[in-house]
Amino acid sequence: MTMRRETRAVIVAVESPVGTVSTAVDELSAHLPTRDRPMICPLCSTEKWPCARFRAAADLAVSGDVRLEDLIPPDLRPRLWPSVRSGS
Ligand SMILES: [Zn+2]
Repeated sequence: MTMRRETRAVIVAVESPVGTVSTAVDELSAHLPTRDRPMICPLCSTEKWPCARFRAAADLAVSGDVRLEDLIPPDLRPRLWPSVRSGS
């Protein structure tokens, strides 16, 4: 059985960089694949990851001066940036 990634809610000031794009951060986090199925979005079952909804949310997040690499689990970074090693 595939489970979603464990997530954590945080509180940030609305006017902070993360606060201004918090909806996009929530959206892209919901579209992160599980460790055991890193090629498949758990919500967009017909799309490989990174799915269109993840990419749209990621674009919004970085437009708010948030670093995408700070929002992506290490095991998925090589999928987005093939030259980066996961370190795990
Ligand atoms: Zn998706």
